[in-house]
Amino acid sequence: MPGINPFCHIPPAALLYFHYGLAFIFLGAAIAFKNMRGSRLRLAGSLFYLAVFGFAHGTHEWLELYLIVEQHTLTSREFLLIKFIEFVFGFLSFMFLLQFGLILLRQISGSKLNALRWLHLLLLLIWATALCLLWFRFQSVNLSLILHADAITRFCFGFTGSLAAGLALIIYSRSIRRLSKNTATNLTCTGITFVLYGVLAGLVPSKTILPWLHVPVELLRMICAILITGFTIKALNIFDIETREQLVEKMKLLVQAEKLASLGQLAAGVAHEINNPLTNSSLNLQMVRKQLVRSKPLDRALLKKIDAVARNIERASTIARELLQFSHNDEQEFLPMDINEVIRQALVAVDYRIEEITIVKQLSNVPKISGYQGGLQQVFINIMNNSMEAMTGLDRREIRITTSQHKNKVRVEIADSGSGMTKEQLTNIFDPFFTTKEVGTGTGLGLSICYGIIRQHNGTIDIFSDIDQGTTVVIEFPVLEDHEIHSDC
Ligand code: ADP
Ligand code: MG
Repeated sequence: MPGINPFCHIPPAALLYFHYGLAFIFLGAAIAFKNMRGSRLRLAGSLFYLAVFGFAHGTHEWLELYLIVEQHTLTSREFLLIKFIEFVFGFLSFMFLLQFGLILLRQISGSKLNALRWLHLLLLLIWATALCLLWFRFQSVNLSLILHADAITRFCFGFTGSLAAGLALIIYSRSIRRLSKNTATNLTCTGITFVLYGVLAGLVPSKTILPWLHVPVELLRMICAILITGFTIKALNIFDIETREQLVEKMKLLVQAEKLASLGQLAAGVAHEINNPLTNSSLNLQMVRKQLVRSKPLDRALLKKIDAVARNIERASTIARELLQFSHNDEQEFLPMDINEVIRQALVAVDYRIEEITIVKQLSNVPKISGYQGGLQQVFINIMNNSMEAMTGLDRREIRITTSQHKNKVRVEIADSGSGMTKEQLTNIFDPFFTTKEVGTGTGLGLSICYGIIRQHNGTIDIFSDIDQGTTVVIEFPVLEDHEIHSDC
C-alpha cells in the first residue's frame, strides 16, 4: 500500500540483534576469507575456532532477532523449537571460543601446559553429552528449562571462553610486537574487549537494564561485538606483513645464491689462470734452490729469500685451490652417509689442532642422508677450524657437537664458546673473501665453500652468534628416503 513504511513496525530490539549478529558473522567471514596458507604464526593454527565462534554466535543472535520479529505468528511449539536451536548455537559458539582460547594458550606456552590437552577432550565430551541429553529429552523441555540452561552455559562457557580467548590474545600480542606494533596493539584491544564481553555476556543476565547507564546489557554486548570484529579485522593484517617478510627473506637468499654463483664462475676462471704459472714458478724455484744448496760457499741470505718466495707461492696455490673448490660444480657421487661417522672422521682430521679444547659429542642415532664424503668432511673441518680459531687465547674452550632428527631433516649443531661475532659480521660471513683474520691467516673462503657444498646436498646452514657469547652453526640435511637408498645402491 502506498505510503506505508515496511520497516516502521520493526522493534528497536530487533535492530540491535541484527547488528549484534552481523558483527559476529562478519568476524567469522573475515577470518574464513583470510589467506593464511604457509603462515608460521601460532595464531594461524587456532583462528579456525574463532571463525566458527563468529558464525555460530552470529546465527544465535539472528535467531533471537527472528523470535522478536515473528513471535506473534509462531505457535508455542515452534517458538520453543527455535529457542532451543538458538540455545544450541549459543552453547556451540561458546565451546568454540573456549577451544580457541585454550589452544592459543597451549601454543604460547609450548608443551608446558600439557594438561590443556585433556581439558579439550573433557570439553568435547561435555559438549557431546549435553547435546545428546538435550535432544533426547526435547519432549519434556520447556521455556524455563532452556532459559536456565542458557544462563548456566553463559556462565560456565561464555564467561570462561571469553576470558581464555581474551587473555590468550593479550599474551600472544606481546610476541608479535617485533613484526608489527600496530597489529600487536589491535590484538591487545581485541583481548581486552573479549574479557569485557565475557563479563557482559557471561555474568550479567540477559534483558538486564544496567544501572547508571540505563541501557539494556544487549546494547553494550553489541558494541563489544562490533569492536571485537573491527580490531580483529585490523589485526589480521599480520598475515600480510608476514608474507611480505617471507618474500624479502627469499629475495635475500636468492640474491646471495646468485652472487655466489657468479662469483664462483669468476673464481674458477681466475684460479685456473693462476694455478698454471704458480706450478711453473714453484718447479723453477725448486731447481734454483737445489743449485744454490750445491754451490760453495753457500749464500744463506739468498737461500732465506728463496724460501720466503716459496712460502708465498705455496700460499697463493692454497688460495687458488680453495677458489677452485668453491666453484666446483662437478657431479659428485652421492651415497647414503652416516653423518655421525663423517663428523668423527672430520674430528680425526683436525685432531692435531685440538689442544686443550673440550669436545663434547652428543651424537644421536639419526637416519642416513645422501651426500659425498669429501664435501661433507670439508664442511665440518672448516666450521671446526673457525671455532678453534675463535677460541684462541680464551680460558674456556669448548666445542659441542650435537646431531638430532627433526621431522624429515637431520640436524647438526656445532656450538663453540669462542669470541662470537657482531651482527654486521654475521651478515657477511658467507661472502667469499670476507675474513676478520690477519693477512696470511684466513682466506675468507671457508664458509662460502661450506655454503656451496651444503646447497649441493639440498641442505641449509644458519649461524647464530653474539659477541663474547660464542657461535652456533646449525646445518640441516634432508633425510635419505627409502626409495633413494634402493636407487643409489
Ligand atoms: P676465514 O676463516 O678464512 O676467515 P671463513 O669463511 O671460514 O673465512 O670465515 C669468515 C669469517 O667469519 C671469519 O673471519 C670470522 O670473522 C667469522 N667466523 C666464522 N666462524 C666463526 C666462529 N665460530 N666464531 C667467530 N667468528 C667466526
Ligand atoms: Mg675459516
